[in-house]
Amino acid sequence: MKLDVDVLRYLSREDFRVLTAVEMGMRNHEIVPSVLIDRIASLKHGGTYKVLKNLLKHKLLHHDASKYDGFRLTYLGYDFLAIKTMVNRGVFTAVGRQIGVGKESDIFEVSREDGTIMAMKLHRLGRTSFRAVKSKRDYLRHRNNYNWLYLSRLAALKEYAFMKALEEHGFPVPNAVDCNRHCVVMSLVQGYPLVQVKELQNPEVVFETILGLIVRLAEHGLIHCDFNEFNIMIDDDEKVTMIDFPQMVSVSHRNAEMYFDRDVECIYKFFGKRFKMTFEEHDDNVDVSEVDTDESSRPSFSSVNKTAGFLDKELAASGFTRKEQDEIERFIEGDIEDDAGGEGEGTEDNGHESELNQTTIKDLDSLKLEQEKTTSSHNEEDRIEESQQTSNVSQSRESENASDREEESEDVNDAQLVKSLTKQRRRAIAAASRGRKNYASRNSYKDKGGKSSHNSKIQKQLNSW
Ligand code: ADP
Ligand code: MG
Repeated sequence: MKLDVDVLRYLSREDFRVLTAVEMGMRNHEIVPSVLIDRIASLKHGGTYKVLKNLLKHKLLHHDASKYDGFRLTYLGYDFLAIKTMVNRGVFTAVGRQIGVGKESDIFEVSREDGTIMAMKLHRLGRTSFRAVKSKRDYLRHRNNYNWLYLSRLAALKEYAFMKALEEHGFPVPNAVDCNRHCVVMSLVQGYPLVQVKELQNPEVVFETILGLIVRLAEHGLIHCDFNEFNIMIDDDEKVTMIDFPQMVSVSHRNAEMYFDRDVECIYKFFGKRFKMTFEEHDDNVDVSEVDTDESSRPSFSSVNKTAGFLDKELAASGFTRKEQDEIERFIEGDIEDDAGGEGEGTEDNGHESELNQTTIKDLDSLKLEQEKTTSSHNEEDRIEESQQTSNVSQSRESENASDREEESEDVNDAQLVKSLTKQRRRAIAAASRGRKNYASRNSYKDKGGKSSHNSKIQKQLNSW
C-alpha cells in the first residue's frame, strides 16, 4: 500500500478536525452520516462539506451513499491520524520506505530528528477477509462495535504491551517506543527474517536458542502462536530477535498445548528442511530408552515449569486489559487455528538491505507547524461551555471507555481537539435521542438542495441509536 505522506503537509487543521470527527462517528456507525460528521466537526459556514471533498480526493475517506449519505475512514485516513499524533508527540519526524508487508500489517521505516531509524507497524486487521469473518463469527454479529478500526487498534495495543513486557523480562524483542491507534513504533531490528536466510554458521546453536525462547516464553506464561521463520529475525552475528505479538496467548488458554506444540513443530520442520538438520522421529510403539534419539530433548508443554499470572498482572499494568485481551483473542483465534502450521504467512518482505534509502524519506517537519495551539476563539467558547455543562448522555458501550482512555493519553493538542469534538458528538447524540426534529447546531450545515426528506431519513437514523 502506498503511503504518500506528502499529503500530510497540505492537510489543514480543519481537515484533521473533520477526519477525527469521522473517526468518532465510526464508534457506532460503519458509515458515518454526513450530517453527523458536520455536527461533530461543527465548522463554521457549512465548511465541513468542502473539507470532506478534499479528504475524499486524497482517499482518506470513502464515500457511501447506498443507504444514506455518509463517509467512513479508509486505512490511509486512519494512518494519517496515527502518524500525525506520533509526529506531534515527537516520536518521529519522517516516514521512509516500506520494509515489510505482513498478512495483516504494513511496516515502514521512520526516522527521528537525529536520524535514528525505527520501524512503524500499521496493523490492518480484517484487510483481507473481515467481511467473511464477520458473517462467520457469532460474537461479531451481535456487537456492532467490532469494526476494523477497533480491532486494529486492539492488535496494536496488544503488540505494544507484549513487546514492552517481554523486553522488561529480557527477551530479545524490538524496543517498544510508542503506540497510537493501529500504529506501533519500535526499534528497527538489524538483520533479516529467518525465511530469507539460506545459510547459517551455527544452525544448531540458532535452533537451540529459538527452542529455548519458546520454552522460556511458556515459563513466563506465554505462547507466541506464530513462531516461525517469518517472525524470527536474525543478524549477521546470528543473534535472534523475535517479532509479531498480536496473536500471543496465555499458557492457560484452552488450546495452549496445541499452540505450543505447533510453534515447536514449525521450528523443527523449518530447520530440517532449510538447514538439513535431522531429528529422529519418535515412535510411540518403541520404548524411548532403547532408541538413540534427540527426541528426548524436544520441549513438551507438560514438562515446562509455567508461571501463571504474567499476562493478567503485567500486561494490565502496561495498558492492555484482560477484557481487551479476550476480545482480540476471540477475533484472532480463528486465524491462528486456520493457519496450517503457521505457514499461512506467505508474504516475502520487500526489503533485504538494512540501510535506509534516504531519498525515500519524507520530511514531516512542516507538520510541526500545525501542532501549534489549536485554540481558536471557537474552541475557547467550547471549553467554557463544556466546563459549565455536565454530560448526561450515558455511554454504555464498553469499547468507548477504551477509546476515551486512549484519547486521554493523547498529547495536549490532540486532547483539545478530541475534547471539543467529543462534546459535539454528545450533543448530536443527545439531540437525536430527545428526538428533536429540527435540531440545529450553531454551525449546522444549511441544506440548500431541498433534500428535506433525505434529512429526515438521517434524522430517523440518528434517532435510532
Ligand atoms: P505481520 O503481523 O503482518 O506478520 P510482522 O510484525 O511479522 O507483521 O512484520 C512483517 C515483516 O516486517 C517482518 O517479517 C520483518 O521483515 C519486517 N519487520 C517487522 N518489524 C520489524 C522491525 N522492528 N525491524 C525490522 N523489520 C521489521
Ligand atoms: Mg509476521
